[in-house]
Amino acid sequence: MRHYDQVIIGGGLSGLAAGIRLARFGSKVLILEKHAIPGGLNSYYQRQGRLLETGLHAMTNYAAPGVKHAPLNRLFRQLSLSRKGFVFCEQLRSTILFRNQTSLTFSNDPAQLAAEVARVFPDCAGRFHELVELVRNHDPFQPRPWISARDRLAELLGDELLINMLLWPVMIYGNSNEHDMDFDQFVIMFSALYLEGMFRPAGSIKNFLDHLVSHFRELGGELRLRAPVASFKVEGDQVSQVVLASGEEISAGQVISTAGYPATLNFMGNADPVEVASHHGRMSFVEIINVLPGSARSELRHGDNTIIFFNFDEPFDYRCPDEAVNLNCGVICFPDNFHDLPKGEEMQLRVTHPANYQIWRGYSPEEYRRQKGEWAERSAAKVAEIVGNYRPKVLYRDVFTPLTVERFTGKADGAIYGSPVKVRDGRTPLKNLFVAGTDQGYLGIVGAMLSGVTMVNQHIFSGSGE
Ligand SMILES: Cc1cc2nc3c(=O)[nH]c(=O)nc-3n(C[C@H](O)[C@H](O)[C@H](O)COP(=O)(O)OP(=O)(O)OC[C@H]3O[C@@H](n4cnc5c(N)ncnc54)[C@H](O)[C@@H]3O)c2cc1C
Repeated sequence: MRHYDQVIIGGGLSGLAAGIRLARFGSKVLILEKHAIPGGLNSYYQRQGRLLETGLHAMTNYAAPGVKHAPLNRLFRQLSLSRKGFVFCEQLRSTILFRNQTSLTFSNDPAQLAAEVARVFPDCAGRFHELVELVRNHDPFQPRPWISARDRLAELLGDELLINMLLWPVMIYGNSNEHDMDFDQFVIMFSALYLEGMFRPAGSIKNFLDHLVSHFRELGGELRLRAPVASFKVEGDQVSQVVLASGEEISAGQVISTAGYPATLNFMGNADPVEVASHHGRMSFVEIINVLPGSARSELRHGDNTIIFFNFDEPFDYRCPDEAVNLNCGVICFPDNFHDLPKGEEMQLRVTHPANYQIWRGYSPEEYRRQKGEWAERSAAKVAEIVGNYRPKVLYRDVFTPLTVERFTGKADGAIYGSPVKVRDGRTPLKNLFVAGTDQGYLGIVGAMLSGVTMVNQHIFSGSGE
């Protein structure tokens, strides 16, 4: 039987980052990924000669090279990756748009959002400044009980519309809870989105993933694709072997699972179903990728934005919708709209809306296909209220549903942000088994990578995982 110092379950961004960190210090480390392509939630596929990305609107936590203590630069240092190997393009500008009426525009310069708040909510300008100072000085990683972000923001800002407008991007880009979120999580996401800002790598997510995988392999790590983990063999309070669906057994000193907390509990075989169910998140989404001719760029209203976070619901609420899709709120992303990105002959307009997993689960295969087409048409009609009618120009369209997310990533109930209860310390009932990634609590692409690195530092390098 083959033995590794560490086995990592999942070749998504948290698993790759954890693997690089371990391999860099000489560990014999194996990543097991159930799919044929790495990347997990943030991967890619080919259709009609086009490379389509599954999950990349924008990365958060932008920092210019050399900025000390910035999470992005810390991450690169910890992975011994040179910033010179990547070209990062900053967002142009993004807009939060409520009822197609009230808007706040922001960029990677935090002063722009402050000026916008002062323009639209003049009575709140001073209080917004205090919120920014509080976020800058608050350590969200100290263990403390859940504090309602809504309650804290009500005390700090007072204005319901401003609170909802600030919350909407923060929630849709990283909140696994409905209605409200933990204030610490709010601070992490507020900082990542509004103070540090958004960017994307030049090239595709494939180039980014290829770079990470080659770096991992050059450091001596092994990545096995099409290698789904089925269960663990447990001896006492430790995982002794990881068992693949093929029946192959692999022994490991420590195991890091990025497959999500419910799946990780299920690998143990005797998980309490009530506990597993408590980790099923309810927030899932549909994502509609529209490919348009590049000439459409100049014809779309707000077409110079990178991302538009829109909401027509009154009152605004972040929750799993009662219908299959909530068209009244969502995200419109123009993935070409980043500084220094060359413009191609085609462009994309991606739209994300909250969606109800259980309703999508209930459709027959034929009905499921029909509903996908119907909701995409209805989405185009809604989004046209903001950007104009792009429907006749669509050259190619693809739709992901909560079932797509579940099928391709194993995320229970298609919950992109995973469990509503995060395992902040990464510990599990077994002493040498740790969770990293979405269910550990750092969200998004940069967050997932930071999680992989942090769990290795805390549990493997500190010796607590011995
Ligand atoms: C439509 C969409 C849009 C998004 N947009 C953005 C964005 O613009 N910006 C941003 O920062 N983030 C975005 N995200 C979120 C981001 O992609 C994730 O937060 C991040 O990639 C999560 O990484 P992870 O490693 O924690 O989890 P995952 O990516 O889920 O990785 C887990 C891996 O484990 C594998 N796995 C699961 N079960 C097993 C098993 N039994 N055996 C072996 N392998 C297994 C899965 O196949 C997967 O590869 C988006 C996500 C989606 C779906």
